[in-house]
Amino acid sequence: MQTFSTIAFDLDGTLAESKSAITEEMSGLLCSLLGHHNVAVVSGGSLQQFQKQLLGHLACQNPEVLRNLYLFPTNGSALYVYKDNIWTPIYQELLTDAEKSKILSAWDKALSESGVALPTPSYGPVAEDRGTQITFSACGQEAPISAKEVWDPDQKKRMAIREVMLPLLPGFAVSFGGMTSVDVTRAGIDKAYAMEKIMNYLHIEKDVIMFVGDKLDPGGNDFAARRSGVTCIPVANASDTAKLIRKIISEG
Ligand SMILES: [Mg+2]
Repeated sequence: MQTFSTIAFDLDGTLAESKSAITEEMSGLLCSLLGHHNVAVVSGGSLQQFQKQLLGHLACQNPEVLRNLYLFPTNGSALYVYKDNIWTPIYQELLTDAEKSKILSAWDKALSESGVALPTPSYGPVAEDRGTQITFSACGQEAPISAKEVWDPDQKKRMAIREVMLPLLPGFAVSFGGMTSVDVTRAGIDKAYAMEKIMNYLHIEKDVIMFVGDKLDPGGNDFAARRSGVTCIPVANASDTAKLIRKIISEG
């Protein structure tokens, strides 16, 4: 296998099961990988979500290796690195208040015009302000996987919502995250953008980067990574990813 200095991962469904924490095994594998590689994690989630699913469970014996970890929450609209024991933003493309209210009203209009009904009961607030991104979780932010997997398995509901939202939001990107989420960021911010940012920040070329994700097919929320020209490796789930990491570590 070609040698890669930098391995980038999607979070949900790739390093961890949806909205769940990484396993102890995954923590061990990531810590070993961080000893010899740069590791980037790119997800639609907020930094707080990274904390819950990844950072709070990443127990590296040598915390020095965390300096090789690069976090891209909200699809790459921010980058955090570990400096002086704190996750420190390198950049953050924050939405303005005016942009946020425009996005919220586009969502309301999309619901009334598309005829798509949100599921009941709702599990917590639907709209979440992630600073650089607004995320709408159709079933509510605290919804169990069982409620989420039945709502929009073929993405048709979210496509109908997006069709109404897009013309109302020129200059913004509307993408799908997780099983029921709709993410809105400024246009051009996606996993390819995050790959560009890591290349610039580390002064590396695309041929030394591998991206690993569970949704790399067209229409999937990792598909944009392919556009960046980095090597993309599809995985089925987190245990598939664990196998791949073991292989990378054993090949040095
Ligand atoms: Mg995923």
